[in-house]
Amino acid sequence: MNQQKGNLSIHSENIFPIIKKWLYSDHDIFVRELVSNASDAITKLKKLSTMKEVALDSEESFKIEVRLNEADKTIVFSDNGIGMTDEEIKKYINQIAFSGAEDFLNTYKDKSDKDQIIGHFGLGFYSAFMVAEKVEIHTKSYLPNTDPVLWTCDGGTTFEMETGSREHRGTDITLFIGDEGKSFLNAYTLRQTLDKYCSFMPYEIYLTVEGEEAKEDAEPQEAKPLNTTTPLYMKMPSECTDEDYKDFYQATFKDFKEPLFWIHLNMDYPFNLKGILYFPKLNTEFDTIEGQIKLYNSQVFVADNIKEVIPEFLLLLKGVIDCPDLPLNVSRSFLQNDGFVRKISTYISKKVADKLNGLFKTERESYEGFWEDINPFIKFGTLKDEKFFENVEKSILFKTIQDQYVTLDEYLAEALDKHENKVFYVTDHIQQAQYINLFEAHDLNAVLLEHTIDAPFISMLESKKENLSFARVDSDLNEFFKEAGDAESDAEKTKNEEKLQTLFRDVLENEKLEVKLERMKNNDLSSMIILSEESRRMQDMMRMYG
Ligand code: ADP
Ligand code: MG
Repeated sequence: MNQQKGNLSIHSENIFPIIKKWLYSDHDIFVRELVSNASDAITKLKKLSTMKEVALDSEESFKIEVRLNEADKTIVFSDNGIGMTDEEIKKYINQIAFSGAEDFLNTYKDKSDKDQIIGHFGLGFYSAFMVAEKVEIHTKSYLPNTDPVLWTCDGGTTFEMETGSREHRGTDITLFIGDEGKSFLNAYTLRQTLDKYCSFMPYEIYLTVEGEEAKEDAEPQEAKPLNTTTPLYMKMPSECTDEDYKDFYQATFKDFKEPLFWIHLNMDYPFNLKGILYFPKLNTEFDTIEGQIKLYNSQVFVADNIKEVIPEFLLLLKGVIDCPDLPLNVSRSFLQNDGFVRKISTYISKKVADKLNGLFKTERESYEGFWEDINPFIKFGTLKDEKFFENVEKSILFKTIQDQYVTLDEYLAEALDKHENKVFYVTDHIQQAQYINLFEAHDLNAVLLEHTIDAPFISMLESKKENLSFARVDSDLNEFFKEAGDAESDAEKTKNEEKLQTLFRDVLENEKLEVKLERMKNNDLSSMIILSEESRRMQDMMRMYG
């Protein structure tokens, strides 16, 4: 056969069901897509106006309206943006996967610098068919002397197009909701979905309910937009007050406990990223920490807790991250392998470490006040992320039996003349009270490590720091507690040791048990049980793994 070349063709009959059913996992995505298109339509118009390509009425307010009519089973997404000519519909709507957003950016790329255009793949519009059995577009372009257009498609592979009746510039997308989308005909559900995806979108969004439900609603509709057009994280940190941060936290996370502190991320280079991360206050010491990081793309909600973008340990915080450079629709496996995504994650982790170090250095007192709340989180971070450990290492505190907070270096320096590179610790200050007394009597210090995360945390520290070791207060009878005896009393001691050892071996039926006697300095305890650090950790581990 001769060599041939040609274009691959796609059968819309086959591809259309794929787009409808499998492109998006969640049905509610159509809300996000259609509101983003409306928002893009307004952004484009505004850009054209700044480029003097169109003259706008300075009085005009831009907004997006979502109208629900339960009786008619319709939802309309209406905007007063750029609109479309029949040529544009043919190009951008009839050609599936041809993105008008990309096309616009390419056309004007030299003239418009920072883009806020959301669209990208040219597939969003068709998500309407996940819930609608028929879709109408009523649109009129901003271009003078163009006719309005009415476009209709019933979800098959054909469409109809005719001259429409829309009088004003802009677009109405009407969805005739089918069985699959029934739940969205409920005002509450629709409102929740709008809140979820659109609460930070840059133009005012109004939900109006028409028909039966509207009459029962005594409040005047359209009184208030349902979104905040400039969410706090978009502002410069210098413009935000503590009150602003607290209010934003409450409104976004419905958490009425004040956050401990926060980090405002604001970066333009080498990638664009804005956001606020909050350190929540724990309720009680039994609180399980459950964070929530909401990810946005140009003020459009993408998803919660995407651990590919946010370092896993930061998912314990609460916060919002907006990164316009992240594609809206990508699979998780793509994100996992993406170098750019990793860079974001590294940046965020570094910023958190910087903040902690800053607080430690300049506001140590309040930092110590936060420590009980934030320490499990920081320890978890150091276990999960080596770089994070290196970054915050010097700001890690230990609470001592004297109720003070010290760093590892401070503890070791203070203990230097008594024991080197060894940290004594308490895992339960009530059960181990007598050992604490003993330590205090000998002017020795120990630290409290009572949280479940402390066991892996100290193992990690030991593995990272040469010579450093941790010993529980009951694990070692130390040289500084022992009193030296003479030859006579030593012989006596050995005899008693043997007797006791036989006794314990018999009673506990353990032939390997060793019993040692020690004479102790200024101590009023008659006896105490000790267990070597090594065997105890072994036991703990065995218990942990059942
Ligand atoms: P994308 O937004 O990724 O470009 P969509 O499938 O969501 O892809 O939309 C395709 C195109 O249709 C848009 O890029 C835009 O040119 C046009 N379009 C869709 N909705 C509107 C609207 N409300 N107003 C103006 N143009 C629109
Ligand atoms: Mg779109």
